Amino acid sequence: MNDRKILHKSGFKLTLPRKMVLNYLKLGGHFSAKEVYDGLDKALGLTTVYRTLDLLTELGLVKSLFLADGSIRYEYIGDKNHHHHLVCTGCGQICELDGCAIAGLENKIANNTAYQITHHALELYGICPSCQAPKKKIET
Ligand SMILES: [Zn+2]
Ligand SMILES: [Zn+2]
Ligand SMILES: [Zn+2]
Repeated sequence: MNDRKILHKSGFKLTLPRKMVLNYLKLGGHFSAKEVYDGLDKALGLTTVYRTLDLLTELGLVKSLFLADGSIRYEYIGDKNHHHHLVCTGCGQICELDGCAIAGLENKIANNTAYQITHHALELYGICPSCQAPKKKIET
């Protein structure tokens, strides 16, 4: 199903701001609202960017990622499978981890607790290889 259809199904139109935000996210990556705002050369107001991201998240086209540092990143998931992330605490780089290592665990917990588990989030944090490299001393 394409973006337009998903929006229509819920009674929304693919307006220009929505299209612009979607196209930006489709560049691939995990962006903060501010990055989307800057990336679109401030063509949309920051409030519009926030509202648009909220709506697209609600409709399931976009996923929001709540990071341990309190920031929120958004990614287009219209054509992506469920996945997890590895986040570098040094430079903020985000790697995608294919597949789901805890699908089995989720089933087990659902069975044990009689919960109907709707979703889960799992982000791993660490230090990427380039942040591990010893910093060059700056001699003055
Ligand atoms: Zn790093
Ligand atoms: Zn991702
Ligand atoms: Zn998973």
